[in-house]
Amino acid sequence: MTRSAVWHPFTQHALEPPMKRIASTKGAYLIDEHGDRFLDAISSWWVITHGHRHPAIMKAIRAATEAYDQIILAEFSHEPAETLARGLIEIAPAGLSHVFYSDSGSTSVEVALKMALGYFHNKGEPRDRIVVMEASYHGDTIGTMSTGERGVFNAAYESLLFGVDRLPFPAAGREEQTLDAFEAFCRSGRVAALIVEPLVLGAGGMKIYDARVLAGLKEIATRHACLFIADEVMTGWGRTGTMFACEQANISPDILCTSKGLTGGSLPLAATLCTSEIFNAHLSTDRRKTFFHSSSYTANPIACAAAVANLEVWRSEPAFERIGTLEALHRQHLERLRGDARFTHVRQAGTIAALDLIAPAAGYLAEAGPRLRRLFRERGLLIRPLGNVIYLMPPYCVTSDELARAYDAIDEVASIVLGKA
Ligand SMILES: *Cc1c(COP(=O)(O)O)cnc(C)c1O
Repeated sequence: MTRSAVWHPFTQHALEPPMKRIASTKGAYLIDEHGDRFLDAISSWWVITHGHRHPAIMKAIRAATEAYDQIILAEFSHEPAETLARGLIEIAPAGLSHVFYSDSGSTSVEVALKMALGYFHNKGEPRDRIVVMEASYHGDTIGTMSTGERGVFNAAYESLLFGVDRLPFPAAGREEQTLDAFEAFCRSGRVAALIVEPLVLGAGGMKIYDARVLAGLKEIATRHACLFIADEVMTGWGRTGTMFACEQANISPDILCTSKGLTGGSLPLAATLCTSEIFNAHLSTDRRKTFFHSSSYTANPIACAAAVANLEVWRSEPAFERIGTLEALHRQHLERLRGDARFTHVRQAGTIAALDLIAPAAGYLAEAGPRLRRLFRERGLLIRPLGNVIYLMPPYCVTSDELARAYDAIDEVASIVLGKA
């Protein structure tokens, strides 16, 4: 076999077996070159919402290729970008009026941070501090790593990361500490923006917190006139049970980042939505107040057409019914595992289910990670635990039987790894 030239993401090549080649995808499955099927229980890193290769989205992509490839978005616009922007404003929390396009979750967050800093810069207010939540993840660029949790993942780049103010995670019973910490930072008058993953901290370990905390943070931000950035890159598009997680706190952010499920997971695209107040702070005959940002592939028309088709899927198909069914199924399965001595912190937010495997010894599970993944793969499942956190985030087309298979595998694999089977 010829050696692969591909350097894979978040992969220690010295410890991993050769990558399995996927030849096609369909619904909830990845299908390899031998025809073996893997249930995609994590939606291919959280991007696939309805299912792989949704026919309506694929059809829209094919149609778009008959008309466009890439079109510069300065001086020019195009129908898919315009239709999508209107559609996003319609479904987003009230008050968001402008859409800035980019191509990944990380870039949508970079855009959000630059919008916030530009807003205060252009108003002549000296605010430049960013407040973040402990254990959060906002991407892997230098800027987004700066706002995320520090650790082994970014130790090598530490010297380039900018300083931020960190709020403690609002664990149940300690919510007030988070709100008090935010209030204290705000009193400095230097805070430009708070950035949070609403309701669920994804890569930080599927940590779930109460919607009332989100509402409390928004209230404090508003009172101190600092901007509230909702990073809905993972939580958007129904994952937490509502279209956007902010809806559950009944709040409208000043800036909202969306990417992963924006095209149903079919093509890379991102959008940063903001209020007219932020847009207007950049609106001036003084060119220095321009929002100086662009990606080469900003608003790629084919990706925008896929996202427009995705919006139509949400309008015309019973997506929320599927989500409701999936939520109920998770609840039943998790109920069984709640009293299980092998697991702790059994939790759920909408279509996301997570539990922590109890380690027999400290540090043991870091070693067990690759083993867990292999055991799941051998059972025809794509499940990638975050340390000792096992979670399921399947596409909404997953059936009751398929989900049951995933839970059976968790049960079996946990026993093997803990040496109880
Ligand atoms: C995945 C993720 C990002 C980064 O998105 P990329 O497309 O991988 O750059 C940012 N924020 C959150 C909350 C995410 O889950």
